[in-house]
Formats: sequence, C-alpha cells, structure tokens
Amino acid sequence: MAGSSLANIHDPTKKVRALADYGSQVEVDKTISPKLYFRSGREMLRMANMYCDEGNMESAFILYSKFITLFVEKLPSHPDFKSSPPNDVQDFKRKVKKVFPLAEEIKSQLKKKYIEEEQKWQAEEQKRQEQLAREEEQQRKEKEEQIKKDEEMARQMQTEAEERWMKEQENKYKHLQQQEAERIAAEKRRKEEEEASSSMGAGVMLIPADISGVVSDTGGDLPSAPTPAPRTVVPGTADQSVSPVPRIPDRELKKHLSITDQGPEDVPSLPPPAYSPPIPDRSTKPADHFMSTGPFDGSGGIRDVVVPVELMEKFVKVSHGSTLKNVETMGILCGKVAGAAFKITHLFIPNQSGTPDSCDMKNEEELIFYQDKYDLITFGWIHTHPTQTAFLSSVDMHTHFAYQKMLPEAIAIVCSPKYQETGVFSLSDLGLEVIGNCREKGFHYHSKEPPLFVSSSHARTVTSESITLTDMRK
Ligand SMILES: [Zn+2]
Ligand SMILES: [Zn+2]
Repeated sequence: MAGSSLANIHDPTKKVRALADYGSQVEVDKTISPKLYFRSGREMLRMANMYCDEGNMESAFILYSKFITLFVEKLPSHPDFKSSPPNDVQDFKRKVKKVFPLAEEIKSQLKKKYIEEEQKWQAEEQKRQEQLAREEEQQRKEKEEQIKKDEEMARQMQTEAEERWMKEQENKYKHLQQQEAERIAAEKRRKEEEEASSSMGAGVMLIPADISGVVSDTGGDLPSAPTPAPRTVVPGTADQSVSPVPRIPDRELKKHLSITDQGPEDVPSLPPPAYSPPIPDRSTKPADHFMSTGPFDGSGGIRDVVVPVELMEKFVKVSHGSTLKNVETMGILCGKVAGAAFKITHLFIPNQSGTPDSCDMKNEEELIFYQDKYDLITFGWIHTHPTQTAFLSSVDMHTHFAYQKMLPEAIAIVCSPKYQETGVFSLSDLGLEVIGNCREKGFHYHSKEPPLFVSSSHARTVTSESITLTDMRK
C-alpha cells in the first residue's frame, strides 16, 4: 500500500515525509499489556537492524519511526503503563534516545539517495531528449537528400527526352536530304533525256533560260557556289531549326516537381517521398521511474512466512510426553528477515504450565534473553491439541490477537497428534475486529460464520530448511 503510493511521489523531500508519516501510524491497543509492547519494541529494533544490513533503509526508517512514535507518544497513555516495571521504562527511554539520531541519519541518507535518483533520472531524461533531437535531425537530412535525388532523376530524364528528340530531328533531316538528292538526280535524268531528244531533231542549239540565268547571276567567270543545304528550309520546322531543343530552366523544373499532378508529359512527375514528422514515443518515458527502487518494504503488504516442515516434526516429538498426559504444549516461533520473507529458524519452548486445553508461558524474561542472544524476532506461536482437532479455540484467538497486532504476519500453528492434523492460522479481518472488541475471558462462544480465523495464505512450508530447537522446560 505505502509502496505504491511512494512510487507516485517524485519530490525527494515529500518521499521521505511519506515514509515518516507511514511510520507514525501506530495505534496502541489498551487490551494488550505494555509488557508485550516492550517485547515488540525490542524486536522492532532488531528487525530494523536486519533491514539496515540488507540495505532496505526505507523499512528500517519506518520501524525506527514507529518505535519512536510508540514509546514517546502512544504507550505512555496506556492505562497500565504507570505500573510497568521502572527498569523497562528506563531502558526504553535510553533506547529512544539512541534511536532518534539513527532515524535522523537514515532519513538524511534516504533523502540523499532520492535526490541522486532524481538527478540521475533528470540526466537520463535529458539524454533521451538529445537522442530524440538527433534522430529528428537525421530524418530531416534524409528527407532533404531524397528530394535532391528526385530532382536529379527528373533532370536526367529530361536530358534523355531531349536527346531522343534530337535523334528524331536528325533522322527527319537525313530523310529529307535523301529526298532532295533523289529529286536532283531525277531532274538531271530528265534534262539528259531532253538534250538527247533535241540533238536528234532540227540540229538547232537551244540554250535553256534557267541555265543562262545561273551563268549571269554568278558573273560567268566565277566558279558556281554549291547549292546551300536544304535542311534549313523544311516547311513547318523553321522555328525549331533555330533552337531545336526545348530547354526547361532548373527553376521551372523544381516548380514542376513540386506540383506533381501538373507536370509536363515528358517530365516525369515524381511524388514527394513519403514523410511524416517523428512522433516522440511517450511509452519510453518512465513516468514511474521511482519504482526502480522497489516498494520500500519489498513485499507489497504482507510478507511470506517460511515454515520448515521440521518445525512441526520436532515440536510434536518433544511434546509427546505431555500429549500422552493429555496436557498442551506451546512454543514460540522465532526467526529472521530473509529478503522479502520472514524465515522461522528457531523454536523456543519456554517454561510453561499446561492443561488439556490451555497453556501459559512462565519466565518470559528467558525468551527475551534468548531472542537478544540470537538476534531473533517473534513470528508467532505453536501449540498442541492433545485431544482435539487442529483449530483456534476462543482462548487461542484471544492469545493470537496480541501476536497478530504486533506483527500482521504472525501465525498460530496448531498440531493435533491424535487426529494427525496441523493447521497454520491467522485471524481474519473480522476476527481481528471481533476479538479486539471482546472483553470476555476463559472459554466462551464466538460465532463461526463468517470465520474469525483462516488458514494463513502467506505461510509457506518448506522441507529444505532446518530448525534450531531450544527447550527450557524443567
Ligand atoms: Zn488451542
Ligand atoms: Zn472473545
């Protein structure tokens, strides 16, 4: 819950404040003895140390904040606080004094970390923007080059069209030249035939008028100039003969290229290259980049509790004698933080007094000493039902209420050797509410539907882990 809300906060100062706010959300249940809060307080500090070792500073900071809130603000208003052992009160006053600077130190570390993360993100964002600009520039250049290529291609095709036209004109000219040569040859033959026929007639020599004209025009004694080539006098092509190739200036060419559907037929009209402006990809923008630090408790709410199967096996074995006498046995489940989970590593069987349907711990300070010595946290409790099935009685639910109030993950394991049953239970939300408001003592009636306790879905039994058993019974 707090993890996801933290991800939505970008300002480093506000992020730290959100953690502190979460850490101040501590309520004291007046039905739970201050003694249990003192025990939980020790475990909070131990757990905070484990989080520090793991580098999970957010969780450590929250626990320190909760510790301070609990012992400075909330617990002193508990009705039984004044009757608490003075040693405990003094001890926790000292602890609070030590925790304050620790919490402050972690707070400034976290703030520094958030600022660095923010700056890193800003720098990466700037890089991304620069890369985007480079890509846009590249696309713009490619577009320009494509336009140049298109223009060049159009120009080349124009040149080819011009060359084709020239060739055609040349062919036409040759054809006309040939026709002219044939005409001259035919004329010459006709004259020769005429001359031949006249010399065969009256014997009078006739000078043809056109020949005498040629002689007089050229001055007689000058050699006659060759007849100019008729190629320039082809009817209908006179204008083109002056400038046979239609030229389209470059400027015109460009105009034709840009107005694609109006280009002249011999200039191919090329469509402009397909181009659309780049659309920046918003999906790569990490709007939720703070998620990279992970939700601060690493669990998204309730952590898994790892329960070695060996725990139940050993417990049933050591409680066998009492079970035969029809007396309940109880033990405390202790363990450590293991990544995102809690792992039960130790089973502490305290001095106790039992009946067929109840069991009470004696010498609780031995448990505190033991947990201090091995750096352990309480993850719940275990007990036998010598004659009954595995379930939580009303007394069990009231006992477990305190465990679960201290640690939401706390579990209650019930072993029934007679029925060969084992249950791993937690109070349901309704169970927490109903039991929290119930002031009855001893065995009493609680409605079974809807259920006040359920199988713990966050408990994970494993065969790979072993357990250390400590039995304090005399
Ligand atoms: Zn029970
Ligand atoms: Zn009750």
